[in-house]
Amino acid sequence: MLTLDKALALIHETLAPSKPVTLPLSQCLGLTLAADVVSGIDSPPFDKALMDGYAVCAADVATGVATLTILERITAGMVPRETVRAGTATQIMTGAPLPAGADAVVRIEDTREEGDRVVIQTRPIQPEQDIIRRAAALKVGETVLTAGMLITPSRIGALAELGVATPSVHPRPTVAVLATGDELVSVDQTPGPGQIRNSNEPMLIAQLQSYGVTPQPLGIARDVKEDLAAKIDAGLKADVLVLSGGVSAGKLDLVPSTLAAAGVEEVFHKVDIRPGKPIWFGIKRRPDGTSCAVFGLPGNPVSSMVCCELFVRTALRRMLGQPDPNPQVELGYLVRPYTMRSDRPTYFPAELTRTPNGLIARLVNWQGSSDLRATVEANGMVLLPPIQRTFTSEEVVQAYRWGS
Ligand code: AMP
Ligand code: MG
Repeated sequence: MLTLDKALALIHETLAPSKPVTLPLSQCLGLTLAADVVSGIDSPPFDKALMDGYAVCAADVATGVATLTILERITAGMVPRETVRAGTATQIMTGAPLPAGADAVVRIEDTREEGDRVVIQTRPIQPEQDIIRRAAALKVGETVLTAGMLITPSRIGALAELGVATPSVHPRPTVAVLATGDELVSVDQTPGPGQIRNSNEPMLIAQLQSYGVTPQPLGIARDVKEDLAAKIDAGLKADVLVLSGGVSAGKLDLVPSTLAAAGVEEVFHKVDIRPGKPIWFGIKRRPDGTSCAVFGLPGNPVSSMVCCELFVRTALRRMLGQPDPNPQVELGYLVRPYTMRSDRPTYFPAELTRTPNGLIARLVNWQGSSDLRATVEANGMVLLPPIQRTFTSEEVVQAYRWGS
């Protein structure tokens, strides 16, 4: 059976970053830059004051004591007219351009005014004191941001300073979600005999939202070819279609055959993990060169959730152009022993807590893939390798935080 690593590699190979578009900065948080950004400006654009005070010739205040004639008063946004010469000073506010001739600023707290003069009494002033020179932080022509960088708030600030109002980014894919099963009723209904509520749909929608996309729910498809085919057709208009249920070996597991009939090529079916072994992945290629990535997640709720974290999230990161699309691993310590009996790599629901001494991973009491209740206590999962032995408390394990 396919290993998780091989399955993730197939997702990378099958999918590509979404075609770059330009978007306003207000829509760019969490996206990835599709092109390098070269500065068209110097920063700061002029020599400027870093303090409120007086722009002076440092040589005048070499002892820290001086009385200087005030030439003019400059606040941020103004342009100085006078040149500061020996014996003179210009009152200046933080961020204002330094007047010609001046090479230091004396803080206002170290001065007092007497008529048209300023009396300075402070420690010796060196040239360059409390000023910043033009282009000290950034020069015209420098590459400031590079393709593949995740857009964070500070990078949005940098793009704004550079005047890049609509950067080139990989846009968020559109995602459709389709639950399947004759036994399902919607969340607001009371299940009759043999029925259960469609818990996967709201859960998957929320997971996808936590990854930064806005999924579209398509409701419940019944285990009947016609209904399933019609709803799959609607879902294939999105960039990504996430189905739950109907991918195992049961009598009414019609998803793989209906996807094949709709022209979706299978890339893999079944991966060596627990929960989630029956996971199905394929791609529908459209004549115009675009495509829809299709995930058939096993219906058991914890399988659906874990497969969404491991596979769908990786696909979305890949389509968003992120440099490291794979599940993000952290190392943590188990806090109680666990005896592993499965012969498959197991993603075990766990409560992960950051402490000053590192990450603590507490495995919750879990009955298996249908036990969604156990996940209420969990915010992530721990990978237990398929070695039939007891993992001791304090053992270091790989942990994965769920979207939250
Ligand atoms: P399936 O993969 O369709 O064979 O479903 C496996 C198990 O998951 C069955 O017990 C289903 O009733 C359950 N199941 C399937 N879809 C959902 C859903 N949307 N919400 C909750 N449970 C589901
Ligand atoms: Mg089913």
